Amino acid sequence: MATLAFATISELLDKLKSKEVTREELLEYFIKRFKEHDGKVKSALEIFDKESILKASESDGPLAGIPGILKNNINQKGRKLTCGSKVLGDFVSTYDATASRRLKESGALLMGNANMDEFAMGSSNEHSAFFNAHNPWDKERVPGGSSGGSIAAVAAGLVPWALGSETGGSVRLPAAFCGIVGLKPTYGLVSRSGLVAYASSLDQIGIATRTVKDNALVLSQIAGHDIKDSSSLKVGKKDYSKKLDTKELKSGLRIGVIKNAVNAKGIDSEVRSSIKNVIKSYKDLGATIKEVDLVTMDYSAAAYFILSRAEAASNLARFDGVRYGYRDKDAKTLDEMYNKTRHDGFGDDVRFRILVGNYVLSSGHSGEFYENAKKVQRLIRKDLDEIFKDVDVLLAPVHAAPAFKIGAYAKDKLQMDLMDYFTCFANLSGVPAISVPCGFTKETNLPIGFQLIGPHLSEELLYRTAYSYEQAHDWWKMKPPGF
Ligand code: GLN
Repeated sequence: MATLAFATISELLDKLKSKEVTREELLEYFIKRFKEHDGKVKSALEIFDKESILKASESDGPLAGIPGILKNNINQKGRKLTCGSKVLGDFVSTYDATASRRLKESGALLMGNANMDEFAMGSSNEHSAFFNAHNPWDKERVPGGSSGGSIAAVAAGLVPWALGSETGGSVRLPAAFCGIVGLKPTYGLVSRSGLVAYASSLDQIGIATRTVKDNALVLSQIAGHDIKDSSSLKVGKKDYSKKLDTKELKSGLRIGVIKNAVNAKGIDSEVRSSIKNVIKSYKDLGATIKEVDLVTMDYSAAAYFILSRAEAASNLARFDGVRYGYRDKDAKTLDEMYNKTRHDGFGDDVRFRILVGNYVLSSGHSGEFYENAKKVQRLIRKDLDEIFKDVDVLLAPVHAAPAFKIGAYAKDKLQMDLMDYFTCFANLSGVPAISVPCGFTKETNLPIGFQLIGPHLSEELLYRTAYSYEQAHDWWKMKPPGF
């Protein structure tokens, strides 16, 4: 049974098919993994009971019997929905997000709720209202955020796949910090129906797995048009895992290395040399490497800061003590009730973001902040459109340095916001991006990742490009010690 923990989804499907293991046994096995190991990483807010998990997904579809976990901002009917916040109190979801429903229809077993930064705001999972999640490679370090719980669970072999969400990098960053694969799909490819909004024009559900193929298998179940999401793209369902093994690289795939990212000041030398090795690998695999300047990337974190806060301020207005969860009981007037509920229900960082969001939208300031940030967003899109005329995919680091110690940036908000520096331009422009493990630091043995970014709806190309690198290396086989 020990081989089950880090088995790929395809391997698990084979074992189920050959009846080496039943879906009940498999589920029991992974529930036991959580019991034994999750105390070290604190990836789950809740693991449901076996019977109810099995009952919720009885279909015999393509992922039948494969357990996974969902970030707790994705609705699962009848389960607690906290968004990592106290403001939702004991709120129980009344419906399934489209992604949850589609996974259940595929037969996948939805085991629990993953830990996260409050309302998906953060880069370290230190902003969960409940407890920190830890990096399986070094428990004193953050797993990254905001989907830290989802990613730590997969990296520790507690579950083969997890859903997270991305607004500015929240799947790719933790995936890179924990040595696994993380996809942010094209905006509109995966329905947002049932994903609690942070910044709706940027939010996308993302996928965390240990291999590229596993990632494609999960995307194949959740992608595709959904009438319940007005921003959903009119694309049909397809099997993204089909054409991974092609010779495309050999025929001269053009990879654009984002020069100003790789050469950015402050990049850790080991991260930089790992990225250089990735570039060399791709050359050896037959790709054509070009250097490109994505000048607008250097303005993306600032624009993201403003736009995400602006949208958050209006999205989070609905948590007022009337409609959902927690309500202050002692207030004497309605205004007092709103104020106290929001003051005590939200964490400091969330309240600060709401303040910033309202400020940048306020009359007299919106031109200076919000409108300018929108202009930067348009320029990034234009820049990428031009660049993708010359190259097929882009390559860049995900993070400037490996996972940091818990508490290291507790007082340094700016440093924390800069965690989105290499990732958020993909969210601002809506294009897909995937982060892939590419090595470890020498002394601290911490994972390093790189990312590939492609034009809209280029998920298949990204998977193929990532897959050829993955198969040429053994990084995906590495297991964190003690798991
Ligand atoms: N770190 C970013 C933020 O806090 C990204 C969050 C996300 O992608 N959900 O806004």
